[in-house]
Amino acid sequence: MTPQTPHHEATASVATAHVLVVEDEPKLAALMMDYLRAAGYEASWLADGALIVRHVREHEPDLVLLDVMLPGRDGISLCRELRAFSDLPIVMLTARVEEADRLGGLEAGADDYICKTPFSPREVVARVKAILRRVQQQGARERANARSLAHSPLRVDAEAYRAYYKGELLPLTPVEFRLLRILLSAPGHAFTREQLLARLHDDPRSVNDRAVDSHIKNLRRKLAAVDPDADLIRSVYGVGFRLEPQATAGFPR
Ligand code: CA
Repeated sequence: MTPQTPHHEATASVATAHVLVVEDEPKLAALMMDYLRAAGYEASWLADGALIVRHVREHEPDLVLLDVMLPGRDGISLCRELRAFSDLPIVMLTARVEEADRLGGLEAGADDYICKTPFSPREVVARVKAILRRVQQQGARERANARSLAHSPLRVDAEAYRAYYKGELLPLTPVEFRLLRILLSAPGHAFTREQLLARLHDDPRSVNDRAVDSHIKNLRRKLAAVDPDADLIRSVYGVGFRLEPQATAGFPR
């Protein structure tokens, strides 16, 4: 192992993240913790895998670096045990590169794998950083979605294929739903009929571009059924249609 200098590049958003290192080799654990701390993380160490469940429950780390080869209990069964009650990110550390080990860890619910031969603490920090960034982005998206539930008059639940206006479910056909989603993707932007058609249908040539007008008409009628003053979908003379940006106040994009 070549000596490396930990480099300092902590960022405010990850500075308080807590990483638990579960590793029975003290030198390796100390090295990882040095690098993690230099990168701005809190780091703690467990040499004994048998203590991991209690530690995770009590201290709620943001990520676990878990050695596969631990005396007594192996990392894979510990990973499975953690997964039974927690969705915290787990990165397995292994000295073995066999495919079976990788699959075993991932099936047990590990988020990532790092091979210890050759061991690179920089790689460990880079993976930790990438995973925590992903988790934080997911969290931010979920919070933004929750805000939009509360504040946005027009809301689309893409997974359920449902759209709501002022809290009321709009009885949209699949085409109307897709049309609304396209308009919502860029509120205030005027889409031409051709652009809308191209994104609505796999083969736009099979559809008359006046079909867009009839879908728009139906969408407006359904919005007006909720609020007769609704004027969310505007015609743009000589171009096509745009969605009134106010319709989406608070909507995450
Ligand atoms: Ca070990």
